[in-house]
Amino acid sequence: MKRIFSSTVKDLVGQEVLMKGWAETIRVHAKVAFIDLRDRTGITQIVCVGEENIKIAQDLTAESVISVTGTVSERPQSLVNINIISGTVELQAQKIELITKAKTLPLPLNDREVSEETRLKYRYLDLRSKKMAENLRKRHKINQYLRNYFTDREFIEVETPYISKSTPEGARDYLVPSRIAPGKFYALPQSPQQYKQLLMVAGIEKYFQIVRCFRDEDARADRQPEFTQLDVELSFTNQTEVLELLEELFTGLVKEFFPEKTLTFPKFQVLTYAEAMEQYGNDRPDLRKDKNNPDELAFLFVVDFPMFEYKEGDKRWGAVHHPFTAPKKEFVDNFEKMPEKALADQYDLVLNGSEIVGGSIRIHDSEVLERVFKFLGHSKEEIQLKFGHLLEAFQYGVPPHGGFACGLDRLFTVLFGENTIRDVIAFAKSGDGRDLMMNAPSEVDDSQLKELGLKRL
Ligand code: ASP
Repeated sequence: MKRIFSSTVKDLVGQEVLMKGWAETIRVHAKVAFIDLRDRTGITQIVCVGEENIKIAQDLTAESVISVTGTVSERPQSLVNINIISGTVELQAQKIELITKAKTLPLPLNDREVSEETRLKYRYLDLRSKKMAENLRKRHKINQYLRNYFTDREFIEVETPYISKSTPEGARDYLVPSRIAPGKFYALPQSPQQYKQLLMVAGIEKYFQIVRCFRDEDARADRQPEFTQLDVELSFTNQTEVLELLEELFTGLVKEFFPEKTLTFPKFQVLTYAEAMEQYGNDRPDLRKDKNNPDELAFLFVVDFPMFEYKEGDKRWGAVHHPFTAPKKEFVDNFEKMPEKALADQYDLVLNGSEIVGGSIRIHDSEVLERVFKFLGHSKEEIQLKFGHLLEAFQYGVPPHGGFACGLDRLFTVLFGENTIRDVIAFAKSGDGRDLMMNAPSEVDDSQLKELGLKRL
C-alpha cells in the first residue's frame, strides 16, 4: 500500500490507507486509545480499539516511529479539530507497527521555555517542533522565490569558492591551513565580493548566489560565524536600477508570503546617510509607525554613505563599506584631500531598524582603486600581493558594475517574527560560536597538526 500523509488524509474518507510517522502523543483509556501521528505535513489522530491495538498503544513511547494501516473516517462535527490539518477526520487503526522505539526525549517539543543550550545540543529534536519545522519550510520557499525572481530577470546563479583568499569586509578571517603548501593558508570568504566582480569582468553581467559567508567576529544576537547572503552583482548598472530591483523584490516577496503584513511606505522611503543621522541619530532607524505591531514592515533605503571612517584605534582611515566601493563622481579626483567629506555610491536597505541589505556601485578604474588601497594605508607591494589579480583583471576590459548582498538570516528573523537568527538557521551555533550538537570547535590529533605543519603553542 502507498503511504499517505496528514495533509491529504481528509480527502480519503472510507478508504483503507497506510500512514507512517512519529507518535507525538499517546492517550490510553479503558476501551480506546488515541495516538497523534506526526509526519512532515502535520498531525493525524489515530483511533485504536480492540485489545491488541490498545496494548500496542499502551506500550508505545512518545516520539517512537510507527506505521499504521486503517480506515479513514469522518469525525462527528463536535469533535472536529481546526488546529490540525487533518482535523475533520481520524484514522481507525487496523494494524499498528512499531518501527523504532524512542527513549524519553531530553526536551519537550513545542515548549518555548526550554533553554536554548538544550535546544541547540539536541537540535535534531528541536527541529521536530512545529515552529522550527515551519521556519525551515518557509525559508526553503522564500529561497525558491528568490531564485525564481532573479532567474526570471536573466541572472544566473554561479557558485564561488569557499576555500580562497582573504577579502576585506572589515572582519577577521577564518584561516584554513594548507597541507600541500605548509605554512600557507586559505581564508574562508567573508563574502564573494571579489569573485562576483571578477564574474563581471568575465562577461556574466547578471550574477546571483545564495551563499555562505564566514566572519570571525565576536558574537551578537544577530550574528553568527557563518551566515547566508543573497549575493547579487550586475554590469552596466546604476544606483537607481539597483534600488528598483530591490524594491520590486521585497514588495513582491511580502505580498506573496506575508499578505497579512502592511508596508509603512508602499513606496520605499529614501534618506541620505546625513539625513538619517541628523533626524534619527543613527543610519538604520526603525520607521514603523507602531513598533508594537509585528505585522508592520518599514523598508527604508539609506544612500550616500561617507566613503571613509577614521579608525581611532589604528590611527588610520578605513572604508565604511569595503574598498571596492566607488566614490560619488564629485569626489573621484579629490577623496584623499577630503576623506571626511567624500561620499560613496553606497546604499543600504533597512527593515524595521535592521540592516538587511548593503551594496554599492564599484570602482572599475584600476587607477582609482589603487589610489583607494594606497589611501587606506596599503604599500605598493601589499596592494600587488593582496589585490594584484583584481587590478590586473581590470586591465582587460571591465564593465562598470555594482551590486548588493542581503543577509538572509536577519531578513527571515524579522519576517518570521523571531527574536534571534538562531531560530531561522537549521544547525545554528550558540551565542559564543560553538556547535553544541557536534561539539565544535574541538581538539584535533597531533598527527593532523603535523600533516599541516602546525605546532601546539
Ligand atoms: N560584499 C558586501 C557585503 O558582504 C555586499 C556588496 O557590496 O555587494 O556586505
